Amino acid sequence: MRRNTHFSQVASRYLFQEIRERKRDFLQQYPHAELISLSIGDTTEPITPHICQGLTSISSSLGSEAGYMGYGPEQGILELRQAIATTLYHDRVDADDVFVSDGAKCDIGRLQTLFGPETSVALQDPAYPAYLDTSIIHRGRDSIILLPCTPENHFFPDLALAEKADVLFLCSPNNPTGALFSHEQLATIVQFAKDRKKIIVFDTAYSLYIQGDGPRSIYEIAGAKEVAIEIGSFSKIAGFSGVRLGWTVVPKELHYHSGEPVRADWMRLITTFYNGSSIISQHGGIAALQPAGMSEMRELVSFYLESTGLLLEAFKQLGYEVYGGIHAPYLWVRLQGKSSWDAFDELLRTAHVLTTPGIGFGESGDGFLRISGFGKRATILEAIGRLHRYRQ
Ligand code: PLP
Repeated sequence: MRRNTHFSQVASRYLFQEIRERKRDFLQQYPHAELISLSIGDTTEPITPHICQGLTSISSSLGSEAGYMGYGPEQGILELRQAIATTLYHDRVDADDVFVSDGAKCDIGRLQTLFGPETSVALQDPAYPAYLDTSIIHRGRDSIILLPCTPENHFFPDLALAEKADVLFLCSPNNPTGALFSHEQLATIVQFAKDRKKIIVFDTAYSLYIQGDGPRSIYEIAGAKEVAIEIGSFSKIAGFSGVRLGWTVVPKELHYHSGEPVRADWMRLITTFYNGSSIISQHGGIAALQPAGMSEMRELVSFYLESTGLLLEAFKQLGYEVYGGIHAPYLWVRLQGKSSWDAFDELLRTAHVLTTPGIGFGESGDGFLRISGFGKRATILEAIGRLHRYRQ
């Protein structure tokens, strides 16, 4: 069989695999080094009590005659879809249009299949690497338009560059920059998509991290249902990165040029490719969206944001130009004249601190590091101490 030639166009390793390998090589050379990771954006705190109870009670009931369940609906348990629509979207979307999944990343891949081989895609640069890599694997690099989002344009893309794209993948607050679109900016994007009949895929994996009244969903913008699909995730808000649970909203109002509803194809696709999310995760999700679960999630998010705030202060004190860290658990740090990988290696060698090179998120990310605020508090404080010592 011939290889899918698009695989030769993606980097041979996914970004975090490359970081893991560099870490392993370093530890082979310096086996006693005690490394601290401010790198991969993974949660570190235990699942909170009420949410954990949701997971454990369904797990044990599966072991009883009365409580056993097999396959559920591919699109998710209705109670969870309803809870997502009501609690997270304040009934701005119909439960019927919420499709529960095993995580946002998995749905990004499935959406690429929905869009098919002919579609041209525009992405924020820098962005979460899965948008780029899944786009390349499905249809090659030539189909992709990068939209630089830098401090110089206040992280707002030049939409004129996306003129030829059919689909815009957008994330707010963006991983890695932490930049949040305002209501006005989002309204501009929605209008652009409407005027030119494009589809937006809006990733809200960090929506609960948003402070103040910034838009937590693209559906806060009037008319957005006619142009936007929205992805969400329990990974960073409930600590479900290992449990696996997310969702995608495909509104009935969204149509192709030809007039057919996108939702019908999405339903066809997931009932074909997917057999539903784990019942255990889904019951964890239901617990997370109950009042006790919501307040636990808010507390968890505050904890990570507090850690991020400590890192933000530290990097500022050290004289770095820093972005993000307010609405997202990430800092985007400019590296006075160094390349991302050089700065990554230098911090690893001198401070034994792992970071994420900005170039891993796109060409416009070179010259930046992403610093993650996920971590035990003691680890974050230790990292801050080391950074101060390293800069002296
Ligand atoms: N989208 C963004 C922007 C992310 O940063 C991440 C994870 O880091 C994901 C999606 C993946 O989420 P999930 O764990 O639900 O697959």
